[in-house]
Amino acid sequence: MTRYLIACDFDGTITRRDTLHLVVDHYGDPAMWDRLDGPLKRGELTIEQAMQREFATVRATPAQVLDLVREEAGVRDGFVEFAGWAEREGHRLVVMSNGFRTVIDDVLGRLGLGGLPVVSHDAEFGPEGTRLLWTDRGERCVLCGRRCKRAELAAVREGDPVVYLGDGISDRCVSGAADIVFARAGLAEWMRETGREFEPFEDFHTVRRYLEHLEEVAA
Ligand SMILES: [Mg+2]
Ligand SMILES: [Zn+2]
Repeated sequence: MTRYLIACDFDGTITRRDTLHLVVDHYGDPAMWDRLDGPLKRGELTIEQAMQREFATVRATPAQVLDLVREEAGVRDGFVEFAGWAEREGHRLVVMSNGFRTVIDDVLGRLGLGGLPVVSHDAEFGPEGTRLLWTDRGERCVLCGRRCKRAELAAVREGDPVVYLGDGISDRCVSGAADIVFARAGLAEWMRETGREFEPFEDFHTVRRYLEHLEEVAA
């Protein structure tokens, strides 16, 4: 049977709401995105610089951030069962996020999934503002020009077929390296508009059923 590397985005994919947006809306200055939009589009700022400026306005302790996420972010249906199924079937499930380890570890730990491998950045939250800690993703990606998730996927792939799940802009480039893509929200729209193949999903039961069906067809 096929053993997949299942690479899964975190914000808006495992969680129902994007925790970065949630935190900025609550503890930062959401209007900052509008002010940064022009400089970003003109290439005067990188996405990382824009995120750093946005999160500099976020004034909250780590406990406040984690409480907010616990109360408001939600977890997509079937995720815990899906993780258990993947482990039993011998698939490797890896969380691949452009967000923050502090938040991700807390959410996964509460779900009893603290052992899942996570690739992400991190943030030091504080009442005076937040500092972002970027994980080194090596050279800029030759395809998208950003330090994107492709390098991390290549590093953990070990030749396995890849299933990728995501919802946002940071999932676009890396999804091109996957054998099967499950997409929702903005990622699904983009893939539809650009004529790429994907499977829509809104919960993890759908994903599991699809992969189980593939096995049945192959058997
Ligand atoms: Mg996302
Ligand atoms: Zn890329």
